[in-house]
Amino acid sequence: MRSQIESVIDELKRLKQEGVEGIYIGDSTLSDLRAAVGNLRGTPVQPKEEKLIESSKPFVPKNPAQQGESLETLMEKAPVEAKATKLNTQVALNQHGKAIAAIPENSPEVNLPEGDKQARWDALKELVLNDPVCREHLNPGAQVVFGVGSIDADIFFCGEAPGGDEEKQGEPFVGRAGDLLTKIITAMGLAREDVYIGNIMNWRPEMPTPVGNRPPSPEEMAYCLPYLRAQIEVVQPKLIVALGMTAVNGLLGPDPKRRMGTIRGQFFEFNETPLLVTYHPSYLLRYATMKTKRLVWEDMLLVMDRIGLAISEKQRGFFK
Ligand code: URA
Repeated sequence: MRSQIESVIDELKRLKQEGVEGIYIGDSTLSDLRAAVGNLRGTPVQPKEEKLIESSKPFVPKNPAQQGESLETLMEKAPVEAKATKLNTQVALNQHGKAIAAIPENSPEVNLPEGDKQARWDALKELVLNDPVCREHLNPGAQVVFGVGSIDADIFFCGEAPGGDEEKQGEPFVGRAGDLLTKIITAMGLAREDVYIGNIMNWRPEMPTPVGNRPPSPEEMAYCLPYLRAQIEVVQPKLIVALGMTAVNGLLGPDPKRRMGTIRGQFFEFNETPLLVTYHPSYLLRYATMKTKRLVWEDMLLVMDRIGLAISEKQRGFFK
């Protein structure tokens, strides 16, 4: 037990070193930690209610452009991103002071109707947009966000969760990171409408502050996963592009040993569909170096090659 706790501490130290200043801990994780500490002391500890891990100051974006900006994985997070605010209560509150409702332990069951692709996709969209859990967690005026694009797409881009722009418009990747993703797709010789774009999560993870984003908790990801799986099942893409570590962890399952630096540009499999890992566009925005841009472009060339898209000399030479 002690060694498990030490691993957790090591991981937290590593995240801190990488500049992460706040992380969200879900109910079940917190209960497990309390129980583990209780076992170490020889005294069983009763699980208490949930609380956000906090940083000492409220999150104030340095640059107004960061407000409502897209999410990024913990691994890729820059120092100022997504800090949670210190809370004095036992229960995590959202920015309106409302207690954040617990995520049900059971993920939704998805039974798609018989019918053609379009009918199945329409039914799925209807189901997700009306899911009471997704709706319960929405900010006022916000929308549940379902995937967009071609249901016959060869490429399925999978991101993390909606941000401020996405929850307002009800569409994934429409903010700054979305603009960059659209540019990447265009550079591949495709239009946004030619591909499918979805997220691990269908609502914007609630925050105690009006600005900033946080990565989804494992409970939130687990709840939404059946909806993502069903979208992949309907679209049947030739390839999934996992944008950032949250997408990877959501699709492949968590692995604390996984490092973006080593898995980027590699193919994995999700239910027999090839899955390529690349950086999240938010990461590219934050670390807009020639090197990161080149690496992502090299990944896109791999994608094009794998699905049999013609690659021009110009496209090959973008970063030469
Ligand atoms: N970042 C994501 O991961 N998904 C979005 O829809 C927008 C930003």
